[in-house]
Amino acid sequence: MSTCIFCRIARGEAPARVVLELPRVIAFHDIRPLAPVHVLVVPREHVASLWELTDPQLAGELLASAAQVARQLDLERGFRLIANTRDDGGQEVAHLHLHVLGGRSLGPMLARRV
Ligand code: AMP
Ligand code: ZN
Repeated sequence: MSTCIFCRIARGEAPARVVLELPRVIAFHDIRPLAPVHVLVVPREHVASLWELTDPQLAGELLASAAQVARQLDLERGFRLIANTRDDGGQEVAHLHLHVLGGRSLGPMLARRV
């Protein structure tokens, strides 16, 4: 069995504050929130990152789930979706996840440094 932390959360073996549960997708609050709302949308099956995501059905379910989380948590003023991918993307947990961030104005997308 995988020891990946998001696989363990998806199997109910590790604790999480879950906000959405679907057959192929789970969403839960980030343990170190960077905004008033910071939720992670995660496929239940282990996909290492967006680089490895080849299933368009699952891709659609992840995106639709992120939108559902935003509606559920009243982010009608707006929100940001982030998928840190591999090393240059700053990915720390090697199980694909979308960050849903909101609840305040989030400022510029990135520091202006090319
Ligand atoms: P990333 O840099 O995109 O890989 O982000 C990984 C995110 O996972 C970080 O924001 C962490 O705070 C979050 N995280 C790590 N472990 C857990 C956990 N057990 N429950 C909830 N969030 C977690
Ligand atoms: Zn995993």
